[in-house]
Amino acid sequence: MALRCKLFGHKADRGGARHDGQDYWTGCVRCGTRLIRDTDGWRVPTEREITEHDVNRAEQRLEPVPERLT
Ligand SMILES: [Zn+2]
Repeated sequence: MALRCKLFGHKADRGGARHDGQDYWTGCVRCGTRLIRDTDGWRVPTEREITEHDVNRAEQRLEPVPERLT
């Protein structure tokens, strides 16, 4: 994680946000950490949310299913 992210929190790439059928997702412009849109702003997703996101993307066939889910 970038030092500035540790100090100030991640900076969401709003222009790169994508909806996976359930939530909006994007990455931090500084360090690339995945971020999920919550009711009060962007935050780091939980492991469970990351797994659900991977399944949602796979169902939409936007990307191949990650190897760890097959
Ligand atoms: Zn970051």
